[in-house]
Amino acid sequence: MLIQILVPCYNEEEVLPTTVPRLLHVLADVQSRHPGVRGEVVLVDDGSTDGTWPLIAALSRSHAAVHGLKLAHNAGHQNALLAGLDASRARADAVITIDADLQDDEGAIPEMVGRFLSGDDIVYGVRRERTTDTWFKRKSAELFYRFVRAMGGDVLYNHADFRLMSRRAVGCLMQYPERNLFLRGMVWGIGLPHSTVLYDRHRRLAGESKYPLRRMMSFALDGLTSFSVRPLRLIVVLGLLFILIALGAIVYGLVSFAMGEALPGWTSLLVSVWFIGGAILTAMGIIGEYIGKIYKEVKRRPRYFVEKKI
Ligand code: UDP
Ligand code: MG
Repeated sequence: MLIQILVPCYNEEEVLPTTVPRLLHVLADVQSRHPGVRGEVVLVDDGSTDGTWPLIAALSRSHAAVHGLKLAHNAGHQNALLAGLDASRARADAVITIDADLQDDEGAIPEMVGRFLSGDDIVYGVRRERTTDTWFKRKSAELFYRFVRAMGGDVLYNHADFRLMSRRAVGCLMQYPERNLFLRGMVWGIGLPHSTVLYDRHRRLAGESKYPLRRMMSFALDGLTSFSVRPLRLIVVLGLLFILIALGAIVYGLVSFAMGEALPGWTSLLVSVWFIGGAILTAMGIIGEYIGKIYKEVKRRPRYFVEKKI
């Protein structure tokens, strides 16, 4: 039984010398608890521009259980993860993804492996508290989860990309051919037997976040728009609301007109503005509904996964 720990690395030369020994240490712990299990660390270099790759090469020479995969250019965190997951299928029975900065507690890994061995296909790492993140990061993340949910996206609260997946689960994930990846939502959508493991989130070991605000916002928007067409539907609601306002404006305009308070032309203008606005929005919303359907079709997601046959 082989379990791989998959680490996406983008300019992480500062943290890898600490990260790798710590992960190997955890693997040794796992092996001593479960003698049948072998462990490996796979480092995916996501087109780093610093000394990350030479470092990975050196680490893999000095540790038999360390392997490297180098992407030709910076493809982004999610793509780096997908590349590693795809490669893992050839050998690993299960794969655990974790960030290079070990902000996610690697101490939760033995428990994840235990859950996998007792039959779970996916084990989600869920952060207990975000006390070590900055106030801003904490609030923005919280707002993000709320917003995604309100907009009809389905994600597991406080779960990022620290999770274990069985080979079977990775196989399911690989059937999603879409380009816009939001793995935490896609994996959640697979189903299969799963459980969660709680852990405390730490500070970044060294270096700085590779997700500046700009990237975080675009990631949030990606997540939202890959999972829900509700924003499109809101346009129709808004359009109908405006038409209702137009009706109110008609009554108001006519009354003012009858009481002789209205300037000539004001009533018709007032009413048309709201009505035309409402009509345009409704029409756009209807087009949006079709675009939503096209969107679902072009993603070509699998319709279902079979869990068991008897
Ligand atoms: N990462 C990557 N490609 C990128 C950006 C980030 O592979 O283009 C990796 C990075 O090396 C780290 C993980 O994704 O292992 C998460 O990044 P980071 O810790 O900077 O994000 P944060 O924890 O601040 O959200
Ligand atoms: Mg981090």
